[in-house]
Amino acid sequence: MINQERIKNLLLELVQIDSHSRKERDVAERIKKYCEEMGAQVEIDDAGEKVGGNSGNVIARFAGTITNAQPIMMSAHMDTVVPGEGVKPIVEGDIIRTDETTVLGGDDKSGCAVIIEVIRCLQEQNTPHTPIEAIFSICEEVGLLGAKNVDVSKLKAKYGIVFDSDDPGFLFTKGPSSNELVFKVYGLESHAGVAPEDGISAIKITAEAIAAMRLGHIDEETTANIGIIEGGKATNIIPNYVYLKGETRSRNEDKLTAQTEHMIKCFKDAAAKYEVTVAGVTTKGRAEVTVEREYSSMDVPDSSHVVQLVIQAAKRMGKDMYAAAEMTLEIMKLNGEMATK
Ligand SMILES: [Zn+2]
Repeated sequence: MINQERIKNLLLELVQIDSHSRKERDVAERIKKYCEEMGAQVEIDDAGEKVGGNSGNVIARFAGTITNAQPIMMSAHMDTVVPGEGVKPIVEGDIIRTDETTVLGGDDKSGCAVIIEVIRCLQEQNTPHTPIEAIFSICEEVGLLGAKNVDVSKLKAKYGIVFDSDDPGFLFTKGPSSNELVFKVYGLESHAGVAPEDGISAIKITAEAIAAMRLGHIDEETTANIGIIEGGKATNIIPNYVYLKGETRSRNEDKLTAQTEHMIKCFKDAAAKYEVTVAGVTTKGRAEVTVEREYSSMDVPDSSHVVQLVIQAAKRMGKDMYAAAEMTLEIMKLNGEMATK
């Protein structure tokens, strides 16, 4: 069984350690210490240097008692969204909440607490278990930067579970791919009251591009959005620059590519309509686009070992709703039993 009091206190402790994205060092050091106390080999990797943060991912390797079995990976992220500094948690019965001046950071400190408490229980209760690779990642909230920079070639686990859902009774096995698009639209500056015909409005190009663009739900598995737009200096200046950021997601790679190309084409087409010649110099409207893969789709079949572990552990517990830590402990027990069969 899970030690309810201990996991509650651990969660309260973790949420009170500031860890905005790129500032996870304090919580990383604490988690490292606890994992080392449990006998793990712990490293903090170099992901922090790569993404401009003050800490890397904490990777803790626990030997397990069934040493010849394949390890299982468990993961949660250490960073929180803003405003998440100086958290003052309030405990009311079974509920832990904030004083509403900050977020709680239960996303994803609760995942971190579950992993630590479950391993403590496995060890204390001498429950046979496989080796465990625990990854406490950085910068999840700003684009999964920690997870993206884990050197997966160093991991021995071939499967694992990420604890980052607000519903312990729900297992995500499918997810979309996502592209982030950054548009930089260039026009030509001119005085709007004196010589507007000598300018090219980057705002007008942008407006035409977006008006022609399919956004929102594109089909049942594809969405698209323009979320950030910045540009212009003053009402009397024809604006020569607009910056935009958007995204598209789809569970289908071909559809994702098609929507990405469509969004790019809207900007290129709108920009191509504009051209002015001033004092013999010709300037054309222009749109630069960069596309970055935010994350790639996931589709784990129900027949896979890891999904079966969760389903069968749930069945053994015989409930529809689960406490995440109890459920995880059951999963680890079952994984150990299956490894020794
Ligand atoms: Zn999260």
